Amino acid sequence: MSIRLTKVDKIYGQGDAKVHALKELSLTITTGEMVAIMGPSGSGKSTLLNILGCIDRPTKGEYSYKENEISHIKAKEMARLRNEVFGFVIQDFALVDRYTVFKNIMIPLSYSQKAIKSKKEKVESVLKQLNISEKRDVLAANLSGGQRQRVAIARAIVNEPEIILADEPTGSLDSATGQDVLDIFTKLNSVEKKTIIIVTHDKEVASCCHRIVNIQDGMIV
Ligand code: ADP
Ligand code: ADP
Repeated sequence: MSIRLTKVDKIYGQGDAKVHALKELSLTITTGEMVAIMGPSGSGKSTLLNILGCIDRPTKGEYSYKENEISHIKAKEMARLRNEVFGFVIQDFALVDRYTVFKNIMIPLSYSQKAIKSKKEKVESVLKQLNISEKRDVLAANLSGGQRQRVAIARAIVNEPEIILADEPTGSLDSATGQDVLDIFTKLNSVEKKTIIIVTHDKEVASCCHRIVNIQDGMIV
């Protein structure tokens, strides 16, 4: 087992502006699983993804990683966990447009103590893995949507995370390109044994997952 949420609540804001985004939500994600999180807009999917990925903390309830209860760890410890364990593929790609493909993928490695030579080799190897080696010197601004998503995935895996979190990774792609991106995730799961959690509206994506978690009004249904 990898991540367990127990009776997690997330409340944003206060008073009249209070939003109860997650309500006593319990969920276990097992190592090696590929899970889809589905539900209507505003149901709490992104909030859940952020909590699973240690980007945000529950207001109430428990978060345990590998059987260790870590809801109350320090911010610095949480940041370390986030960087070492998780790779994020976020919506709208979030690439740095004025950087080359190579440099975008290099970003997560800038905090690593490894020698620059080994970092570059690692970038080369993910470029190859995702079939974008020939785009290495192209500015991110000049890529197509599908290529941008490949770069975003390359950047998410360059640190060799155990768990990959993706928010609508096929949302803005045409169906053929979306299928390519889905194939990449499927392979990362089956060949590289990565745990993968995908927030999606895409039924094709969901059908490739081991399990679908449906959420509505901050609760699993
Ligand atoms: P989904 O990803 O399913 O669209 P979200 O997790 O983004 O849902 O949002 C769940 C609820 O929490 C919504 O009502 C949303 O408006 C609210 N919400 C999300 N993020 C914040 C925030 N940072 N501050 C206040 N409310 C938020
Ligand atoms: P800095 O900002 O430190 O001068 P960069 O941010 O341009 O360097 O790049 C970080 C590292 O990635 C550097 O070692 C640089 O040589 C390398 N790099 C950047 N773009 C490419 C590329 N297209 N091909 C190979 N290496 C690159």
